[in-house]
Amino acid sequence: MAKKATQSPKRTVSCIHCSRPIQVSVKTMSIFCPHCNKRVVCEDYTIRSYHAVRSVSTCGNIIVERKGHVVAPIRAESLIVRGLVRGSVVARNVVQIESTGTIQGNVEAPNLIVRDGGKLIGQCKITRNGRSTEPKRADKADKKEPSSSPPPTRRSAAATPRSPSRRQSTRVRT
Ligand SMILES: [Zn+2]
Repeated sequence: MAKKATQSPKRTVSCIHCSRPIQVSVKTMSIFCPHCNKRVVCEDYTIRSYHAVRSVSTCGNIIVERKGHVVAPIRAESLIVRGLVRGSVVARNVVQIESTGTIQGNVEAPNLIVRDGGKLIGQCKITRNGRSTEPKRADKADKKEPSSSPPPTRRSAAATPRSPSRRQSTRVRT
């Protein structure tokens, strides 16, 4: 099962583990990433029923239909939710919550669409094109404001009783 002539068109997917591009045939169901050697599933999934697994990860697309109920962390190229997803979601492209859809969990994706009636219970992080956590350029960009410095805490005198003798007992060595 090595070669399938010339008629299998190729597509490029991004490795869900290392984010690097992989050329696969459109029929490829799974492949070992040539970059990181991990197995990458390329299938598209349509989930129509209860589905509780350890994780769902594919570099294809996932659709959770109205009666679909996924309890798992999801990683995918894109995700469309018409049913219920309980678990964190990481998508490289778009997460779309339809009017009947609910995600309970954190969502990380460059594009998030929530239709009227769709619910997202969790935090969302809009990333740039799948490259979520690259700490490269955060350094010098905003030095002006240490925006998140907390206000100076005032401690009431009652909370920390002073020991009166401490100050005076400074010894001078000669
Ligand atoms: Zn990889």
